[in-house]
Amino acid sequence: MPEDSLLDSALVRLDEAARHINVDADVIEKLKYPRETTKARLMIRMDDGSRKSFLAWRCRYDDTRGPTKGGIRFHPDASADEVEMLAFWMTFKCAVMNLPYGGGKGAVQVDPRKLSKAELERLSRSYMQAFSRIIGPDRDIPAPDVYTNAMIMGWMADEYSQIVGHASPAVITGKPLALGGSVGRGDATARGGYYLVRHLFAELGLKGKLRIAIQGFGNAGQHIASLFAADGHSIVAVSDSGGAVQASGGLSLAALLAAKQENNSVIHTIGKDGHEALSADQLVGVECDVLVPAALENMIRIDNAETIKARVVLELANGPVTHDADEILAKRNVVVLPDILANAGGVTVSYFEWVQNKQGYYWELPEIHEKLRVIMEREGRAIWELASSRDVTVRTAAYVHALSRLAEAIEAHGTQSYFDS
Ligand code: GLU
Repeated sequence: MPEDSLLDSALVRLDEAARHINVDADVIEKLKYPRETTKARLMIRMDDGSRKSFLAWRCRYDDTRGPTKGGIRFHPDASADEVEMLAFWMTFKCAVMNLPYGGGKGAVQVDPRKLSKAELERLSRSYMQAFSRIIGPDRDIPAPDVYTNAMIMGWMADEYSQIVGHASPAVITGKPLALGGSVGRGDATARGGYYLVRHLFAELGLKGKLRIAIQGFGNAGQHIASLFAADGHSIVAVSDSGGAVQASGGLSLAALLAAKQENNSVIHTIGKDGHEALSADQLVGVECDVLVPAALENMIRIDNAETIKARVVLELANGPVTHDADEILAKRNVVVLPDILANAGGVTVSYFEWVQNKQGYYWELPEIHEKLRVIMEREGRAIWELASSRDVTVRTAAYVHALSRLAEAIEAHGTQSYFDS
């Protein structure tokens, strides 16, 4: 029997949601497959004069609710299958938040840490050249994801503008402010998760000052640490690709951020400020109230889910908990705030950026924060209530919530529509 694809494993959540809501079989059939996945081989000139090629993809999973939206990941393990799974999640994430978007995702199979800045720029521009026919401000709108950032989005926006012959900032989000980026996009993923936990604090069974453990200390991990620490909660353990550190009385945030800046790993704080070494595998099992997976997929699995002591798992990464692990956590009454809700702050502020680009009028930071808070709390509350009234996990409730919006849109298009093909 052929092995299940990554996308198949993600579709289990769709099947589960479909059991709790009355949707037409046509709707499920439509959502089971990506609309289109384009593959390209990017050729770039390296600094030493040699030529090198990298595989790249862009998947437009479903555009029923609007242009496809989702990040571009640069990672050595990227694959077509992973891109399709991530694009499926984006479809549901945008529907969860009621953003007028479908879902998409892109990737380049590369370790960007091994490229010079000039090589990285050539690779980013070459991505846009390869996919400019399917990308566009009303068609498919990329953004940052794992190992991509504002600088890369800036190069891509510039390349697209050159191709179409005029400035087109709304083609991509997460840009530098100087190129039409939005204030508040930098910490938006973490901030959305933080607003969600703050809003459901009592319902989640949380009390007083929290102990937080964070797996992954990139953009989302660093910002969630700062947001919780600013409220007086303590960060008791943190890991990154170099290793992990812990301090039961609380880690020094300043030391963690400095080590990340200077040496690119939190392990350089070991031995200072009471920071002790911890093996990266042990991080999920540390004593804490909230565990924040903020790295990659499949970090909480059948083999370590039993060790979790946290009451709440806040999924800032996409897909950090496997389906089997979900079942274990549900049995153990650990509440998982699922990725398609918990990390949706990022794409929500991307939406604000796109709206600002289209209208050519820019908002101030307090306005962005307030708009994000309102949406996060509204959708978070609706999903929480759905989970309670149906007696299902928050993840299943989030899928049901999104599926009902997707079903309504699919049906509204009619059966002879381009969107029905
Ligand atoms: N890559 C982020 C995500 O997975 C953001 C996507 C976006 O802003 O379009 O949600």
